[in-house]
Amino acid sequence: MAVKFSLSDILKDVKTVGIAGHINPDGDCVGSTLGLYNFIVENYRNVDARIFLEPIPNKFKFLKNADKIEQANEEIMFDVFFALDCGSGDRLGDSYKYFEAAKKTVCIDHHKSNLSFADINYIIPDASSACELVYDVICENDFSKSVAECIYVGMVTDTGVFQYSSTDGKTMTVAGKLMDMGINFSRIVEDVFFAETFEQSRIKSYAILKSKLYENGSIIATYINRAEMEEYNVQYKELDGIVAALRNVRGVNVSIFLYEKEDGSYKVSTRATEGVDLSLIAVKYNGGGHAKAAGFQMVGEPESLIAEVIEEIKKQL
Ligand code: 5GP
Ligand code: MN
Repeated sequence: MAVKFSLSDILKDVKTVGIAGHINPDGDCVGSTLGLYNFIVENYRNVDARIFLEPIPNKFKFLKNADKIEQANEEIMFDVFFALDCGSGDRLGDSYKYFEAAKKTVCIDHHKSNLSFADINYIIPDASSACELVYDVICENDFSKSVAECIYVGMVTDTGVFQYSSTDGKTMTVAGKLMDMGINFSRIVEDVFFAETFEQSRIKSYAILKSKLYENGSIIATYINRAEMEEYNVQYKELDGIVAALRNVRGVNVSIFLYEKEDGSYKVSTRATEGVDLSLIAVKYNGGGHAKAAGFQMVGEPESLIAEVIEEIKKQL
């Protein structure tokens, strides 16, 4: 639903606010939730706001109030609960109980698979990022440089530094306004998008080395299992650049990357350039996402799971 709401109307006479994003938080999830949290803390001093996310990657910890992020351990009933960058309730993980119990729920999101699951929904599937939508909600007011940094982080990470087709003129206008506020944009791009640990660099190279081409070179796939993660001394959270790197191969239209989770199932990440809607495949497997970037889980042997995903992609070609 593309109707923007008034934050001041929603927060009128409200005492408690909870904010959460999706499990396994990425830059857009951290940026949008912290951006909104900081804006509310700075501008609505009578509101008691709290923010809940799973542990966030270290590279986002420079953002203001990142140390205020909590795990959803208690039972709390909030007056208003915001779900950001989250296509469905289950993606909230442990925070879903707050969403269910809240007196009023609000969703700000850009996932194609989002079915408007909150009371108030601001969902624009074509938007670059949930952060750009948070900007829409607060832009009529002045906001701090700390809020601008949060929003910039999500825009940079979800657009591949303004590369993906979800980037439009408005995205660049918003980014320009944030830059004009004096944020250290070069540093942010380097720190949250390009910088990686030596271990990450090595496992990415290894994953690419064992990748295979399918369907005349139009599809590329690879996977990493638990033993390999241990051997290269990385956590699953450190594998997020691999699927995008695979897609850079000339002639490739779809990239597929699987990693083994602790329970032995595989998390599947997919990226496309054009001609396929990956969100449809992801939804079929109870996942979700966008046309050109989607994810889901599967159980089985990685080679046969890759073959199964390729069959699904072929149905669309
Ligand atoms: P990634 O491949 O980077 O994990 O995710 C790509 C996109 O698909 C992101 O927008 C992410 O939120 C979404 N996505 C990934 N995995 C899942 C999933 O299991 N369920 C849902 N609903 N969305 C997912
Ligand atoms: Mn996002």
